[in-house]
Amino acid sequence: NFQKASFKDFENIPDLNAFQRAEVFQEFTNYMEENGQMNFRFMTSKNGCGPEMWVTSPFNKTPKKCVSLVSNDYLNFTQHPAVKLAAIQGIEKYGTGAGASPLIGGHHDYHEMLQTKIASFFGRSPDSALVFTTGYTSNSATLLALLKKEDVAILDMSVHASVYEGCKETNLKMFLHNDLESLERILREAHEKFRTRLVVIDGVYSQDGDLAKMEDILNLTKRYGGFLMVDDAHGIGVIGKNGRGAIEIFNLLDKIDIISGTLSKAFGHIGGFVVSSPEIINFLKFQSRQQVFSSTSTPAAAGLLKALDLIDEEPKWRTMLADNIEYFKKGLTDLGLNVGNTESAIIPVKIGDAHKTGDAGRLLLEAGIYANTIVYPGVARKNARIRTSLMATHNREHLDKALNAFEYVNQKLHISSN
Ligand code: PMP
Repeated sequence: NFQKASFKDFENIPDLNAFQRAEVFQEFTNYMEENGQMNFRFMTSKNGCGPEMWVTSPFNKTPKKCVSLVSNDYLNFTQHPAVKLAAIQGIEKYGTGAGASPLIGGHHDYHEMLQTKIASFFGRSPDSALVFTTGYTSNSATLLALLKKEDVAILDMSVHASVYEGCKETNLKMFLHNDLESLERILREAHEKFRTRLVVIDGVYSQDGDLAKMEDILNLTKRYGGFLMVDDAHGIGVIGKNGRGAIEIFNLLDKIDIISGTLSKAFGHIGGFVVSSPEIINFLKFQSRQQVFSSTSTPAAAGLLKALDLIDEEPKWRTMLADNIEYFKKGLTDLGLNVGNTESAIIPVKIGDAHKTGDAGRLLLEAGIYANTIVYPGVARKNARIRTSLMATHNREHLDKALNAFEYVNQKLHISSN
């Protein structure tokens, strides 16, 4: 029954081999498209990231200029002239690739500079950071290397998929999102049973834009002899007085056992990193399979060296983004829309029903607003929403156009909470 099915139902079908399963999945995606329920072709942009994107989709086959509310390029550093210039100079100096994995000749001085700079960005000693190919890999590879069958990962249930991926060789427990009682119950039970108890949370949660109750979670974790890992992919560079993320807001920069971040959002490039004690970093360098057997950053990462400097040199981007967040959040709330507990550049418009949310996404697109429709399994079944994310370079005209479109969608579909 394709009508009620979702992606997850096709992950595994016991009697079908992989190729047969792919055929059934193809039938499902065809059915969903023919019935106008979901779009299985990627929206394609022809002008890169920015507050405006020229996109084609199954609904508009000729490129259409839209206000983009989909990017994680929060500070728009992908387009910053100084970042671009540094990336180009990096390529001119070193060529286009690293040439090998770090252990066997693919470690260059720009890797060393990048790792040292990231460590110092968090006020740590030079050998406290390690770069991975993506943020996804920094989470999954770190957990895979550190936690074995005698250990346990205790996850806030809303952490990113890459964290779950990293728990395949260890025991996995989940606590209710930001729920201290639920966490304490697990920590108490795990105390005697498992060797390492590693609690993993996000700094900023990627679907709701809310922050972890970081200080309380850290205190609780320490009381039970555990360690804390924080993935602050959406916070680092974006929030906090000095752009050090949610961890800075809680004043815990020197207290978190493992910080994980991405280079693909605020820093406008690709890659991920982990910041921890020099011993953990040394261990990961030689024990993480993804580190040992895979090449990391290309020389365009020289752009990242500049992007990291700009977080300190040009705080205006964070101020512009913070102003936009305040303006847009107020605009949506004034329309009666439910934005939940967001405290970041990710602002969801919670609708609930998946079909209504799909219709809302289409109407927004018709009105020239490109935002993401998030349904199960991205979020729980009755928790569908339009997810927006803001950039420093959105201007008031962009945001007003988006607010007008949300007002129109609300008139048509009644998506407000009151
Ligand atoms: N952590 C979180 C919370 C994320 O939202 C994402 C990406 N959406 C990642 C990690 C992975 O980052 P990357 O895109 O660099 O792989």
